[in-house]
Amino acid sequence: MLDIIKLLPDSVANQIAAGEVIQRPASAVKELMENALDAGATQIDLVVKDAGKSMIMVVDNGCGMSETDARLCFERHATSKISKAEDLFSIRTMGFRGEALASIAAIAQVELKTRRKEDEVGVKIVNEGSVVKEQTLVPMQPGTTFTVKNLFFNVPARRNFLKSPQAEMRHIIEEFTRVTLMHPEIGFTLNSDGKEVYHLYPGNLKQRIMGLFGSNYEEKLLPVRQEAERVRIDGYIVKAEYAKKTRGEQYFFVNKRFIKHAYLHHAIENAFMEMIPKDSFPGYFLNIEVDPADIDINIHPTKTEVNFLDVKLVYAILHAAVRKAIGQHNLSPMIDFDESADLNNDFGKAMGMASPLAIPNIPIDPNFNPFRKESAPRESHWEGSYQPQRKEPVGDWRLLYGERTDLPSETLVQKEEAKSNCQYLQVNQSYIVTPVKSGLIVIDQNLAHSRILFEKYLKELENHSGASQQELFPQALSLNVNDASLLKEMLPELENLGFVLEQANPTTFMINGTPSDASGCDAVALLEQVLDNYKINRTDLQLDRKLNLAKTMAAQLSIKAQTRLSEMEMQNLVDQLFACNVAEIAPNGKKTYVILNMEDYFK
Ligand code: ADP
Ligand code: MG
Repeated sequence: MLDIIKLLPDSVANQIAAGEVIQRPASAVKELMENALDAGATQIDLVVKDAGKSMIMVVDNGCGMSETDARLCFERHATSKISKAEDLFSIRTMGFRGEALASIAAIAQVELKTRRKEDEVGVKIVNEGSVVKEQTLVPMQPGTTFTVKNLFFNVPARRNFLKSPQAEMRHIIEEFTRVTLMHPEIGFTLNSDGKEVYHLYPGNLKQRIMGLFGSNYEEKLLPVRQEAERVRIDGYIVKAEYAKKTRGEQYFFVNKRFIKHAYLHHAIENAFMEMIPKDSFPGYFLNIEVDPADIDINIHPTKTEVNFLDVKLVYAILHAAVRKAIGQHNLSPMIDFDESADLNNDFGKAMGMASPLAIPNIPIDPNFNPFRKESAPRESHWEGSYQPQRKEPVGDWRLLYGERTDLPSETLVQKEEAKSNCQYLQVNQSYIVTPVKSGLIVIDQNLAHSRILFEKYLKELENHSGASQQELFPQALSLNVNDASLLKEMLPELENLGFVLEQANPTTFMINGTPSDASGCDAVALLEQVLDNYKINRTDLQLDRKLNLAKTMAAQLSIKAQTRLSEMEMQNLVDQLFACNVAEIAPNGKKTYVILNMEDYFK
């Protein structure tokens, strides 16, 4: 018998390899743009025709190649980026396999023009199906231009598998976006069939995001920055109120290389949990910088997965970073009145209002307590939270709708008296209905109040400012050893909320004081609930603990459905809701209100 194994000719081997590396025009776009980045270019221009099917051209002003390198670059495993095995553990370049150009040349007609700064002229090489057809000297600027024509000209099966031009163009734009996002210091353009699609000027990441997704992103973004020993996280998240119903802008990068990572995505989703409605998705543009030795370098050129040495650590840091960004955004505007002009703007925009809103100037008597002369029977345990909390009016939301503009000079007392016809209607002792300019707003009293309390508790936890009410007859809270030690862990935070607890013996605490909102409620049951939730959501992240605690307290102490409210109570609830940072969503992710636009119903 004869031996039957043969070594395949390079052109065939390259064509097979191309099947993996170059699946569609967008893959060639990615490889050529990454090469231009690796060459240190400061300006990269991409031109495509027919969604890349008839032509892809990438022009860069990078380091260029010598005549010999220009020929060599089309060989398989020809790379200038690594030379020995150890180099694999310190890769900082986008490419390193030396496969891309060999693959592209195997399945297309490629023209390369390249010139180094130190050379007088450039060299032009034409390579078709892995065969060099032409090599000449050409005058040109320093840099490199790759032109790829008739992709898959010799692989009809591939060509026929391509999708519609629109679909292929979407893939190209996606690759372009991924490459350009993490290199804002570099100028990029994209031209398709003679039309300029993008013109991205050098700048910072925020400007790059705006260049790619629209200048309205300016106000949508929250900066994220977290540095730990082996991990650094940098970038932006989209504010919760701008979360999209479709999986929108979700961009993770590791050392500026785009990746998809379900587990890390979960870290972000989780961090946003109580801020974003269940059917919406968070947006983010985040780069995770790690030592290249801490990730598995064996990244397939077309794959976007990456393995971390310690993915749990990255998860925790990412989660904390996003929480911190959200927390800062949600807390500071409430405290800083200068910022509340913005707050009103955001609110107005969220409500679909076109023009910026002025802050109505309504003097409010901070000492006025609407309950002093109240006589209607009601549940008393939450009334404390109805004291006007704001020293300055954040804005009477009804005025935002152009309603009752006769009010600005009146105090709350006069307002109450002036209101002879009923403005607030309670339905089923669970919903508050009140008119707005365009129709009616229906508010879920339980969800609205839990949002109000949630933000209040977060603020108190942050500022250590919870008001306390002394218990005349302190109750004892008896726990098992485990729970007692958990409770001890939480003591500082509980004290910030207004609890005064004293350990009587290893397993018993005396409840000497409770948060002022909680007066009249069962403090023992409340603390047991807090402990339970703490056990379920146990975490070492401080901000997480605060969010969990604020959530539990808000859920426990919010006004329940089936509770009768007076008109003044309803008014206060509504005013406080719209003074919240995220008024529209309860901590559990549900909507707090809906607006019934009358024009939609009576046509
Ligand atoms: P890799 O990027 O993995 O090294 P490629 O096949 O993409 O492999 O490129 C092969 C080599 O060709 C690169 O290592 C680089 O030296 C050279 N090269 C490719 N594109 C450019 C460019 N735009 N400017 C300068 N050199 C380039
Ligand atoms: Mg490459």
